[in-house]
Amino acid sequence: MAPAHTNKLLTDVSFTLNNGKKMPALGLGTANMGPHMAKTTEAVIAAIEAGYRHIDTARMYGSEEYVGAAIKDVIARGIVKREDLFITTKIWCTYFDNPAKCLDISLKALGLDYVDLLLQHWPLCMEGDEDGNSIKREDGTFVFNPNGSYIKFYQKMEDLYRTTDKARSLGVSNYSNAFLTELLKVARVKPVVNQIECHPRLPLKDIVEFDKSLDILITAYSPLGAAGAPNLKLPLVQELAQKYNVTGNEVLASYHVQSGRSVIPRSVNISRVKENIHLAPLTAEDLAGLDQIGIDEPHSVMMPEIWAKMIGFTTYTK
Ligand code: NDP
Repeated sequence: MAPAHTNKLLTDVSFTLNNGKKMPALGLGTANMGPHMAKTTEAVIAAIEAGYRHIDTARMYGSEEYVGAAIKDVIARGIVKREDLFITTKIWCTYFDNPAKCLDISLKALGLDYVDLLLQHWPLCMEGDEDGNSIKREDGTFVFNPNGSYIKFYQKMEDLYRTTDKARSLGVSNYSNAFLTELLKVARVKPVVNQIECHPRLPLKDIVEFDKSLDILITAYSPLGAAGAPNLKLPLVQELAQKYNVTGNEVLASYHVQSGRSVIPRSVNISRVKENIHLAPLTAEDLAGLDQIGIDEPHSVMMPEIWAKMIGFTTYTK
């Protein structure tokens, strides 16, 4: 039987942002932890060689240096030019008063003059040490700055965007509808993207539909359900993988791309990075079935305390 996936690659799809720029639908996530971090450069190189053009990083992950080394390598070898790549980074919440400082550190680490997309990592203002690390309480919870304003934080990023050429597009991450509504009352630059946790166990239909109505593209993070990739165990994901002769990873990425969302799965396993690039031709019925999993039994993998502050923890877990 000929594979059902052969027609189209996830790496061939791109979306047009509300500022007219294009964003490749499939990006490689790089929030690698512990010993996996050192494998980031190799994974990014493998991804770009396999046709990915979009890489997602953040100051907070500590992966920018490794991503930068990969970019330097592929450009030096003539595999791509800088302008072929779409690099996203994020301003961490401890830099709410001075995002310019964070961006300069990021650009230096990446070895770049500009990023394609700069995101506000969370609509939160946190206390940090002099290196920008969040100060945490003994129980591991973050300390929020009582006077910080996530809107002023974004407005400082707007200033950066408007007065420098260091970020080609501006966006947000982890925004609920209430936070976005407040921001849009004063924003001079509409975010092009809202990057949120989104997968079959957390379809967040209310955010997805609201952002779509505003022409703000959703980028889905933790598509596999994060460490251990628990979403691969969902029976419907396995059934669809068999039906379309693709991997579970490809079903979970195609779920977003077929719904008009970009997606940034993470892996440092080189064969997974290279092989999981086929678009599964999921039908409207398949997509609805995947959504229904999280409508029936929502489950977030993100830090509960953050969700509690953002949109109500009890809404997303049992
Ligand atoms: P993902 O849902 O992408 O899952 C990644 C994990 O799945 C890795 O540990 C990977 O291991 C594993 N995995 C992948 N395929 C398989 C497989 N076939 N079998 C077994 N394990 C597998 O997790 P993330 O939470 O990292 O989300 C993706 C990206 O989204 C991040 O890297 C980051 O860039 C972004 N993000 C953004 C956030 C934000 O606040 N804006 C928050 C969280 C993430 P292996 O490496 O061995 O393949």
